[in-house]
Amino acid sequence: MKIKTKLAIGTGMLFLLITLLSALAIRQVNLLAQDTKNILVANYISLDYARNMYKVTDAPALTQKDLATLQGYLVKQQQNITEIGEKELTDDLARHFAGLQSDPQNGVYIQNFRQGLNSIMKLNMDAIQRKSLTAEKTAESSVWWISCTSAVCFMLGFTLIFNLPGYIANPIRDLTESIRQIAAKNYAQRVYFKGHDEFTTLARSFNTMAEKLQEYSNSNLDKLLIEKKRIETLVNNLHDPVLGLDENNTILFINEKALQVSGLKRQQTIGKKAEEVALHNDLIRSLLQQADNNTNSTLKIYADDKESYFEKLLAPISIVPTGETDDRTIGSFIILRNVTAYKELDFAKTNFIATVSHEFKTPIASIKMSLQLLANEQTGKLNDEQKGLVEGINDDAERLLRTTGELLNITQVETGRSQIKMEACTANSIISNAVAATQKLADYKGIRLNIDTAPDLPLIFADKEKAAWIVSNLLSNAIRYSYENTSVTVKTLQNNDTIQVLITDTGTGIEPKYQTRIFDKYFRVPGTEKEGTGLGLAISKEFMEAQGGDINVKSTIGEGTTFTLNFTQAV
Ligand code: ADP
Repeated sequence: MKIKTKLAIGTGMLFLLITLLSALAIRQVNLLAQDTKNILVANYISLDYARNMYKVTDAPALTQKDLATLQGYLVKQQQNITEIGEKELTDDLARHFAGLQSDPQNGVYIQNFRQGLNSIMKLNMDAIQRKSLTAEKTAESSVWWISCTSAVCFMLGFTLIFNLPGYIANPIRDLTESIRQIAAKNYAQRVYFKGHDEFTTLARSFNTMAEKLQEYSNSNLDKLLIEKKRIETLVNNLHDPVLGLDENNTILFINEKALQVSGLKRQQTIGKKAEEVALHNDLIRSLLQQADNNTNSTLKIYADDKESYFEKLLAPISIVPTGETDDRTIGSFIILRNVTAYKELDFAKTNFIATVSHEFKTPIASIKMSLQLLANEQTGKLNDEQKGLVEGINDDAERLLRTTGELLNITQVETGRSQIKMEACTANSIISNAVAATQKLADYKGIRLNIDTAPDLPLIFADKEKAAWIVSNLLSNAIRYSYENTSVTVKTLQNNDTIQVLITDTGTGIEPKYQTRIFDKYFRVPGTEKEGTGLGLAISKEFMEAQGGDINVKSTIGEGTTFTLNFTQAV
């Protein structure tokens, strides 16, 4: 039954009960009124007539007028006969009145007439008494009926008042709770209401909605699981080792290749802290150390039955949580890129360059010696043209020697074969050697070399030959990348335990974005026209670091450049 119908029935019933109660009350009051009216109309009037006639007969002598009055009342009485036996008594009274009319002064007739009146009065008095009893009974039955009906009405009304609010409010409360559960993603929530009203229809619609949501959520979950499996399979089949960590460094996944190169078993890794696994695994330990230092050096690992090289790639995973604006790191990937093939090619290249530059060195040296003999005119006099040619060949041979020297140096650095011979020496001796080696170049460009060295600096601990090579390389760069007729300054400074050598020029300068890259092998600032290999600064950096020092640059485009070498002080 519909709620609307139920409400209509409920309120209708209340209305009906009120109407019933009112009708009953009206009926009972009417009955009482009727009883009273009966007494009044039927008996009281007769009593009144009789009492009036009685009064008339009280007179000492009845006149014609009294008789006329008596007759008048008698006629009225004859018209108001209401009780059984009243007609006979009234007829008797009329007979006595007829006697009285014939002889108004006759005491017997008067007496008879008055007795007749008494009888009528008594009959009506009895009737009044009887009717009063009936009215009393009517009143009693009214009270009974009204009480019973009121009790029934009260019970029905109470039942309605007690049940109706709950009947409407309870399903609403259940529904609200279920909606709350759905909002909290508990899609298994359902509501059940008995009956066939609007709430049942609502519950049915709600359940359909919840079912669809559940289906949707499950299908999404299914999809996600399939996607997860797909990605896991992909990661597992990657040729490169991959390791996934959460924000607390707990290992979330590790692929087959990573297990293979690390020698670990899957159950030893998944869900474990990387630090814990690192305690008994060298690879994970070195990966973590590199992750901490954020360095990206190449790792040498025995894999694929040979010494292999891997480059570590650390990729942090950050997300922007729903409703937030800042991103949050939720973990990281470590990918080891197998660079063995490139390394092998690189080694082949390095060996080739080493061999070639080594092989070049001897013929170039003999060319230079021959040129020296020619220039000294030990083999005969040269004309001016020949002298010019010899000088040109000498310059080229010099450049070739420098280049092969750089190539040889870099191959030594790359193969780790460069030997460092550390000794205590003065910075000034190193600078003098370097200046001597580059003076000719400076003179050629009209560049003045200012030597601004402090006289009493402590000794430095360095490889003299390599340090001189570095300073002369920096001086030659300063001269090469400066304009003609400018100056280059070499300065020494003491900074705590460090002795600094500063080479400053007022040349082209280097753009900030290239200032770190110039130390990379073979890198040359785009647009650099002077010939060169891009190796000088890379070698200088490697040599400085091998000696326990370092090199850095400060440069302003258009103003000039200062390279600073930091040597450790000898103890
Ligand atoms: P190379 O000089 O043989 O090219 P380097 O490694 O010595 O190689 O230098 C790398 C690059 O750095 C150079 O090509 C040049 O562009 C830039 N550079 C080096 N020194 C200076 C300097 N003093 N002034 C301006 N640019 C410089």
